[in-house]
Amino acid sequence: MNALSLADILAARRRIAGIAALDTPLVPSPFLSRIADSEVLLKLEFAQPTGAFKLRGAANAVALLPEGNAGVTCCSTGNHGRAIAYAAAGRGMRAVICMSSLVPQAKVEGIRALGAEVRIVGNSQDEAQAESERLAREEGLAEIPPFDALPVIAGQGTIGLELVEQRPDLETLLIPLSGGGLAGGIAFALKRLKPSIRIVGITMERGAAMHAALRAGRPVGITEVPSLADSLGGGIGLENRHTFALCRDCLDDVVLVSEEEIYRAMQAHYFEDRIVCEGASAVGAAALMAGKLGRVRGPVASIVTGRNVDMKVFTDIVNGRDVQLGDLVVKGTPYAA
Ligand SMILES: *Cc1c(COP(=O)(O)O)cnc(C)c1O
Repeated sequence: MNALSLADILAARRRIAGIAALDTPLVPSPFLSRIADSEVLLKLEFAQPTGAFKLRGAANAVALLPEGNAGVTCCSTGNHGRAIAYAAAGRGMRAVICMSSLVPQAKVEGIRALGAEVRIVGNSQDEAQAESERLAREEGLAEIPPFDALPVIAGQGTIGLELVEQRPDLETLLIPLSGGGLAGGIAFALKRLKPSIRIVGITMERGAAMHAALRAGRPVGITEVPSLADSLGGGIGLENRHTFALCRDCLDDVVLVSEEEIYRAMQAHYFEDRIVCEGASAVGAAALMAGKLGRVRGPVASIVTGRNVDMKVFTDIVNGRDVQLGDLVVKGTPYAA
């Protein structure tokens, strides 16, 4: 594979059946529907066995490795690592997961529990990346990147196939955006299956790498800072091969949300939709609640990408307490609709 095709995404769906959950529920959110003044649906990707959509791409990439492989490695802010660990365990393969010290402890433990080795290296995704590359070079492990690899992008794109089958009348899609494997794969599929759909990538104001790259017209370095949407942290790689071009060509807009907006959206998903989700998953709701999308044509779908949230932080948020993020304090307020 050196360019993505719809056939790759269809093949990925057959390959990952039985490993990742397919046809995850698409359920109405009466609360967000009132806010948006159109029907809003939530795609519940936290229903994956690993708690996040990343299992789709990881399962596809691991399934493509030859029999008798030395094992797999990756660097990850958490959910990709967990997915690789799960998919590798399913094939009886060794997995070594490299991550930066910014990753929450809950995520580190989740990955160890799946039987993988965890290596904590440095304070940025780039340092974790370098260690993963070294393991690939020196120990012959297959490196599976979190977003910028075609088998991963094709796996995430299977969500796009499901969305048009579940709701052929979908008009707007909100996708949490970080490295762009998710948004790139889904938008690629949907722009072929239903070109009229408006696809908006949503990310946090603090450290939005893909947004900065799209503005500059090329991948650029960014400073990583802690965010409630920790799964959206990290750069896109200065040597980005696929996801930058896919996002540039297939996304209609990119919208940024603040930490306060993410905080409020996590509360709303909890109190209104009865959903426990990560900050990264709440950015679609955050953009709708903040009125940042202008007039939206419905039906609208927002992808609730994962539930691997640090429960200390989560309970602070639902109880309206302040949350400290490095040098920033997100001021707490009790939830009121
Ligand atoms: C990885 C991740 C994203 C973003 O996906 P990209 O492919 O990096 O854009 C969104 N939400 C969650 C929960 C994630 O783990």
